[in-house]
Amino acid sequence: MGAYNVKYKERNFKGNNMTVDLRSDTITKPTPGMLDAMMNASVGDDVFGEDETVNALEEKTAAMFGMEAGIFCPSGTMTNQIAIKCFTQPLDELIADQTAHIYRYEGGGIAFNSAVSTRLLNGYRGIITAEMIGPEINAENIHYPHTSLVALENTVNKGGGSCYTLAQIKPIAELCRNKDLKLHLDGARIFNALAHTGDKAADYGQYFDGISVCLSKGLGAPVGSVLLADKATIKYARRIRKVFGGGMRQAGFLAAAGIYALDHHVDRVKIDHAHAQILSEALTQCLWVSNVLPAETNIVLFDTIEPATIVLAKLAEHGIKALPTDTHRIRFVLHLDVHPEQVEYAVGVLKGM
Ligand SMILES: *Cc1c(COP(=O)(O)O)cnc(C)c1O
Repeated sequence: MGAYNVKYKERNFKGNNMTVDLRSDTITKPTPGMLDAMMNASVGDDVFGEDETVNALEEKTAAMFGMEAGIFCPSGTMTNQIAIKCFTQPLDELIADQTAHIYRYEGGGIAFNSAVSTRLLNGYRGIITAEMIGPEINAENIHYPHTSLVALENTVNKGGGSCYTLAQIKPIAELCRNKDLKLHLDGARIFNALAHTGDKAADYGQYFDGISVCLSKGLGAPVGSVLLADKATIKYARRIRKVFGGGMRQAGFLAAAGIYALDHHVDRVKIDHAHAQILSEALTQCLWVSNVLPAETNIVLFDTIEPATIVLAKLAEHGIKALPTDTHRIRFVLHLDVHPEQVEYAVGVLKGM
């Protein structure tokens, strides 16, 4: 722990200039404990199925969510794109909210990888309902693309970390079952959603055909995501992962970081949520801020009176890094490399601007 603190200070307190990097929860670096786990991993060739640490991560994650099997992939994008490929045929259509990461931030992969079109809905902060989905399912007709998949995101990135509860998901799962549609969850931040709603991971499996779980967001692993599904789907997913260039060899070094993250970093996301609350409350008191969206999890979205680029430049002068999500909107993301002292410092900067 002492060594950790020294390293931590080197990283974040350069002289008297404090840096607070709120750009994303992907910027975290492995902790000493995580690095130890990585260095001590037992590995093998995972394309041959011989990496026992990868196998253990896949089994562990699947068991946590009450699903049959899992496949470790280099990125969340790859897990989502493989799921879409597994659950659709070319010329099909999927339904998602217009903010969906699979649609906005995966480079048009839905069309490129799966030859599938996308029907977009206007949810509330990315949250859609069975009532909204129902009318968008195409009837069987030679003119219409065949609707075969619904994709949800929890938490919703562009919604500012907004959450579905399982009670909200249940009617969507029932609709999909009745209409013979597959249901996929982009769970890049699923542990943030679970921490906020109090729902249990083990209850998720029964509602979804596929779940993507990111290890490199709030959980703080350097690389990787796991796609969960039934055994037959995961068997096919291994074929698709190879085609996408995602078959890795001694990936156990990375999987060990994921196992460590699942064992040690799940509960602590609540700290990030508390930090988000503190920043959110400070922002509501700032005259240069016109609106703060409710911070449910580890993301704070707020609107600025001046253009976001001007505000971001002022924040940068004080060592606070963040990203714009619109011309007058800024996003703060809390994560395990943001310490309470840094939050306190950031509150001082925000109130002084
Ligand atoms: C980050 C993220 C992903 C996956 O991103 P990668 O950078 O490819 O790991 C997927 N969905 C959401 C909602 C995300 O925020």
